[in-house]
Parts: sequence; C-alpha cells; structure tokens
Amino acid sequence: MESSMYLPEASLDAWLAELASSHELIVPRREGDAIVFGPYDPSVSPDISRDATAPPKSSVFPACEEIMRYTSVKDTDDLSKTLVHMEEVMPSGSRVVFGARPCGTRGFTVYDRVFDAPAMHDPYYVARRQSTLFVTLACSEAGSACFCHWVGSGPADASGSDVLLVPVKGGWLAEGVSDKGRELLSSPLLTPGEKYAGEAKAAKAKAMESLDSAADLKPAPEALLAVFDDMEFWNRMSAKCISCGACTYLCPTCYCFNITDENKGMEGSRLRTWDNCMSFQFTLEASGHNPRPTKAHRLKNRVGHKFSYYPGLHGGAIACCGCGRCIKSCPAGVDIRQIVLAAMDRAKASRQGNTTGEHA
Ligand code: SF4
Ligand code: SF4
Repeated sequence: MESSMYLPEASLDAWLAELASSHELIVPRREGDAIVFGPYDPSVSPDISRDATAPPKSSVFPACEEIMRYTSVKDTDDLSKTLVHMEEVMPSGSRVVFGARPCGTRGFTVYDRVFDAPAMHDPYYVARRQSTLFVTLACSEAGSACFCHWVGSGPADASGSDVLLVPVKGGWLAEGVSDKGRELLSSPLLTPGEKYAGEAKAAKAKAMESLDSAADLKPAPEALLAVFDDMEFWNRMSAKCISCGACTYLCPTCYCFNITDENKGMEGSRLRTWDNCMSFQFTLEASGHNPRPTKAHRLKNRVGHKFSYYPGLHGGAIACCGCGRCIKSCPAGVDIRQIVLAAMDRAKASRQGNTTGEHA
C-alpha cells in the first residue's frame, strides 16, 4: 500500500460513503452558526470550510457515557440483604472521525499520557481510542486565534492522526500516518499520490508561514509557579471571566470528569460526565470548604495545569494544542495567550526587582 494517495475532491462523498459502510463515521456538520462533530448523513455534505466550533474530543471521550449498569434484588434467603448485580459497559464498534484539524486530533496525545499510561489505564478511554481512526485535514492558513506553533505543533501536524489530508490542486494528498490509516487508503477511489508530494510540501510551508512569530514558552512552567501566590495578578487576569466554562467544554485537551450514579427504582447506571474546573462546585467539599473559592483561583489552576503542572509531569509536554477555541468562544474576551505571556513577564520583572513590566 502506498503511504500517500491522491483523493480527488469529486470522489470525497463516495469515499465517505465507503468509510461509512465499514465504520461509524463522524464528520463536522453545521448546526446554526456552529460546526460540530456528529454522525455522517449521506444527504448532507460535511462542513469543512473552517475548523469546527467544538473539537472531536467527544468521539473518544464522550460528554456523558454509561460505564456500568447495576440491578439490586432482595436476597430471598435473607430479606435483610440486597444482592447487587453489576455489569460493565464497554465501548464497542469502530469509528472514523473525518475532518478534524491537526490541533483537534493532537489533543488526544495529551489524553493518552493520562488515560493510557503505566500509572493509569482507563479501559473506556483506551477502548475507544484504539477503535477510532482520525482522517485529519491540514490547515491552509492560520486563524487569528491560532497559536499551535507556540506549543510545538503546526497546521500540518499529524500527531494523533491516522491519515492527514493536505490540500492540493483538485483534491487532497492523503498521507497515511498509521498502519490502520494506510489501510483506509486502499480504495479504488484514490490513486497513487507521488506527483502531488511537492505541491503538498509547499502547501504545508505556506500554511506555516501564515502564522505570526511564535512566543518562546520555555520559561512558562517556572513562571507560573513563581506567580502562584500572587493573587493580585490572578484577580486581575480573571477580572472579566464570568465562570461560564465554555473554555473548558470546548477545549480539546481538558479531560476532567465526574462520576455519578443515576437510580431508577432498583436499577441504575453509573455515568461519567465532563466536569469543568472553572465552576465553583468543581472543588467544593462536602463540609462547605472550597480550596479554590474564587474565579482567580480557578483560572490560575486552568492555566497552571496546562502550561506548568502537566509539563512537569509529562516531560515538558504542554497540555494545550494552541487551537484558540477558548479565545474565540470566551464571551468575556479572556485570552489564555496573554495570561501566559503576562505571567512570564511578571515572574521576570519580579526576579529583576520590579513588578510593573507585564503584557496583559
Ligand atoms: S470562557 Fe471565558 S468567561 Fe467563560 S469560564 Fe472561560 S475564561 Fe471565563
Ligand atoms: S487551552 Fe484553549 S487554545 Fe489551548 S487547547 Fe484548550 S481551547 Fe485550545
């Protein structure tokens, strides 16, 4: 199997129909002004005109998933006892996610280090991750909120993907990234792609050039620790935030969850649902004490986790793919780039004995 094939634009619908015949196919679809990932409908063309409003994270990490069912029955031999029958609910089937952008699929590499690691193996996540293939679209040009290049990525980053589609004349050069991805390319609708290799390389370089110069985030982990107790700084950074949580729910690298049991009579389900660290309730303890009582504490945690604590645990890898969704979708105009830059400025100024030099 060739590792790069040419997919003509005219064959896209037929190829998607082919993929849908053997997998659950998930594509970006327009819903009002938003573009969100959902089941493929052959009568509606996927919307790949721009990066989706929500990332594809729910395809592997659903917003709400049933992980166990249980039934309670009275022990007929001893009515003082109740017998509980539990049944684990594991994900099944295989799926292909078509049309995510590189930042959206790269988000799963952040999850992999947490959910599929020697220290912790999350069977629900791993089962879905291993049975989900990503056919990702390289970007032609960066948007104003994109900063994938700040975090070591770029508009044609294939990490987390199985196939990368690079736009070329009349279609895409489909680059097989994984063995399973290369298998998806063994369709008569695709033809050998060597002659498009030069054009694809130029398209990737052009997209990279559309990004402005990258900030150097190497000092960020230490700087965020240096300003950890500086609540005047965090109060200022969080002043506009209304704690809506849009930034976390739309983030391809946020992975906090909650576990609840939903009972109906003598039976019920154990559910895992996304949680949101920007909410007051996230760390509220049963005693009423809350270790993160203000939005300043919560924003500090969100930024600190992505740019300092996570890199500290995972060999320097930043837990942000630079997609800019939190910037584009924040109703209050909070910009995570400016906060990280301001923290670095603040820490540097503090080392130099002055506290005024600062970005935001
Ligand atoms: S989207 Fe903006 S306003 Fe909403 S919680 Fe995030 S930072 Fe705050
Ligand atoms: S923190 Fe913002 S820019 Fe970074 S991955 Fe999440 S939504 Fe994207």
